[in-house]
Amino acid sequence: MNDVLVVKDLQVHFILENTSVKAVDGVSFNVRKGENLALIGESGSGKSVLGMTILRLLPKNVRVNGKILFNGSNLLELPEEELRKIRGKEIALIPQNPATSLNPVLKIGIQIAEPMEVHLGIDKKIAIQKVINLLKFFDINPAEKRVNEYPHQFSGGMKQRALVAMGTSTKPKLIIADEPTKGVDVTKKLRVVELFRRIKENNKLSLLVITHDLLFAEKLADRIAVMYCGQIVEVCEAKTFFEEPLHPYSKALLDSLPSRGLKPIKGCSPSMVNPPQGCRFHPRCEYATSKCLEEPPLISNGNNNVRCWLYD
Ligand code: SF4
Repeated sequence: MNDVLVVKDLQVHFILENTSVKAVDGVSFNVRKGENLALIGESGSGKSVLGMTILRLLPKNVRVNGKILFNGSNLLELPEEELRKIRGKEIALIPQNPATSLNPVLKIGIQIAEPMEVHLGIDKKIAIQKVINLLKFFDINPAEKRVNEYPHQFSGGMKQRALVAMGTSTKPKLIIADEPTKGVDVTKKLRVVELFRRIKENNKLSLLVITHDLLFAEKLADRIAVMYCGQIVEVCEAKTFFEEPLHPYSKALLDSLPSRGLKPIKGCSPSMVNPPQGCRFHPRCEYATSKCLEEPPLISNGNNNVRCWLYD
């Protein structure tokens, strides 16, 4: 089996008093062993909800349908106790906001050591020694001193690297990184790219990177999956995406980059409560025809899978 994760026809709807928000609506994709898959799209397209759904870290007012297969088990059906063994050990989540993701009253070393103690049964003293090695690996020095410090003594970049160290400490098969370059300036962004490359070199794992940052995705990803209004609209190799994207939304996203002309995407992001009928991009698409009032399936076209009638 070449896939570490297979998501099939996933729907995640938030149930509110009189309505529901269709945050993820019929999403299917796979993450291959050893690859970096970047899930890209504008804020509010459902990317982060998708990441949280994989680890079932969602509030109670959510209705989830579909399958999330990991090692042949459907994560959506696993008893909570079984899932807890996978969370943090087999699949690690590097959350979006390093500043609020660490416990302010616990020493960094204790926090990074915890997954090793809980999931691998490693003795506390040995785990702390391993943390020191991890801190050195991620350039958090002097590691012997830093291990006893608290989060407020770390810079933003150091907190992020500490979370990455925690995520990799149990040698998971899959890391989900949610917006790892959020709030990071351009020079530090390259450092984040380097950080993830080093993780890949030293661990045989797969990365699912959730990001709105196309430049980051270009530097890191092997494949790209584009999300728009709760659906995947294009999946292809990263090189193909950046050179020959097919979906009009993918093209518009790339055209909106400063390096490609800074052309804004016309119109607004659609409502997740009442998404547009048919192709969800049709109100903003310059190629739309009456056919686009029917919902297009994901169509295979050469190296791309694309949800657009232009390629039927
Ligand atoms: Fe545009 Fe129609 Fe393709 Fe949607 S299906 S992206 S509206 S051409």
